[in-house]
Parts: sequence; structure tokens; C-alpha cells
Amino acid sequence: MDLSVEDLLNVEVISVSKKAKSLNDSPAAIYVINQSDIKWIGATSIPEALRLAPGLDVARVDANKWAVSARGFNGRFANKLLVLVDGRNVYTRTFAGVYWENLGVMLEDVERIEVVRGPGATLWGANAVNGVINIITKYSAETQGGLLVAGGGTEENGFGAFWYGGELASDTTMRGYLKGFKKGGSTNEKGNNAHDNWDKIQGGFRIDSQLTSNKSLPGTPDIVFKKYKTAIFVQGCYWHRHENCKLASMPKQNNEFWIKKFNATLRRDGIVYFKLKQLGWRVSVIWECATRDKVFLPGHIKTLVVWLKSEYEYIEIPDFFSEADGF
Ligand SMILES: [Zn+2]
Repeated sequence: MDLSVEDLLNVEVISVSKKAKSLNDSPAAIYVINQSDIKWIGATSIPEALRLAPGLDVARVDANKWAVSARGFNGRFANKLLVLVDGRNVYTRTFAGVYWENLGVMLEDVERIEVVRGPGATLWGANAVNGVINIITKYSAETQGGLLVAGGGTEENGFGAFWYGGELASDTTMRGYLKGFKKGGSTNEKGNNAHDNWDKIQGGFRIDSQLTSNKSLPGTPDIVFKKYKTAIFVQGCYWHRHENCKLASMPKQNNEFWIKKFNATLRRDGIVYFKLKQLGWRVSVIWECATRDKVFLPGHIKTLVVWLKSEYEYIEIPDFFSEADGF
């Protein structure tokens, strides 16, 4: 993925503070492994993908066992690391650690893996002493249709995975998957077969229903009209730089710093609007000044209603370029 440094800092993460924040604003040593990283290194399992995260100890015990930890004390039964799949912990109740070889989410389903190194116990509980690994899978609306993956080799004798995503109702989507593999064994120090070859078949599914649809949409819009597939953002004129608006003044000092900060916000907004468009949503931006302005407010609401019923994809209210009656 071609991301500039600014874009990288704006990557959204949720594992540090339990809510979406930009990487730059997250006060922790956090690393994000995304889908394209996984593809690039050709990982066939989650632990292999985790090798990308700096500062994480990823050790392969033998052909079918892994040991993963952060900040030392690694071992097959290391249990001071919290591992989550979509926010649910996956530790084994018997020893509070993770059987990594059983953590078989389909890698193509992974949206990103967030790795937080360092104490996370205050927020996540006792398991998060040395860090948090949050494996986040894709929203099922983004994986509609079918996908088939297959491969093989001398060590990875063969592997394959299949997913199918469909719509159950107008606001409910699902995805089901089936994957399997056969991995060759390793050799012991004498050069003999270590008899640790293994194979596995696994299936699973995910269903998403948009009960609170604004929370699951990019940028968490302030208002959502599901019927019109429309997301509405009420944006502050100052931070989101409402053009030609008197509320969007420029600070007198530290000009360069502020311009950088504003540009980052604008870029983030642009990405959110683009993502919504890709998901088939229309976007309306209502500027703060429009909500303050009691005289023109009824007119603004009327404009919004007309637009809602139209086919236009985007509207700003007020728009100082098309409306002469602004400030
Ligand atoms: Zn404004």
C-alpha cells in the first residue's frame, strides 16, 4: 500500500484506548500489520505475520507449535500477553496462554493486526501485562462474493481457503469461510523425522447487522439516514477548515505547525468521505456556522431535504461557493 508518512500516522487504531484514534495520537508503542503486509511476506499463519511487529518475540517451537510474547519471558505457555480476535480474548482457560496453532482465522479476512507492546493491564485486565495483540477482521459488507486461495510446496504441503459473503437482509451481511492445510514435519538433530507434521480443517462465520450503523461506518458520522444511505457530519468550521468562513481563522503564531495540523485533519476527512463513497454512501457536511445561524437554518434544512431525495452524492451546508447568502 502506498501511504505517505502523514497517512501512516493517521492510520486508525483502537487497541490503545478502546476507541478509534489515529496512530499518532495513541500514547503507546503500537504497531499495525495490515492486509497488504501479510500478503507481501506471504504469511500462512498469524504467528508468521506477527514476525513483522518489532519488539515481539515470535518463536517456532516445532512444526506445529509457536511461542509468542513481548518483553521477554517467552515460552510455549507464556501467558502475560492479551490476544484478541475482534475484541474477544482467545486465551485457553487451562493456562491463560494462547494455542497459537489453533488461532486459525483466514488470513485474507484480516483487516489489520494491532500490536501494543508494554503494559495494557489498566485498560484490558490482568492478561495484558506485557502487551495486547488485537486481530481485527474485515467487516462482512466489505467481503461480499467469493474468494478462493490455494497453494502448496515442500514444507507447506498444501493449503487452501474459501470464503463466501452475502447479504441476509438489507442491513445484515455475513461471510462464511472454510480453510484447511497440511504442513510437513521437521527433522530432529540426528536428521530423522521429528513426526510433527500436521493438518487441519477449520470453518467459521461472521454476521454484521447495522443496528447502530453510524458506529460501524468510517469516521462515525453524527447522523445516519439508512433509507437514503446517507451519512451526515456536523463539522467544526475551525478544525475542519470551512473555506471562506469567518470561524475558520488562521492562528497568528506558529503558522507552519497549524497548517500541518489542519492539513492532517483535512486529509483524514477526505479519506473518510472516500471510504463512505466506496461503500455506496452519500455524504453531507453540515458546517458548525450553519447550525448557529438561526435566520438561515430553516433554509438549510430545506436544502438538505431536497438533496436527500436527489441523486447527488455530496453536499456542504452552507456552501459559500454556490450560496451567496453565507456570512
Ligand atoms: Zn463555517
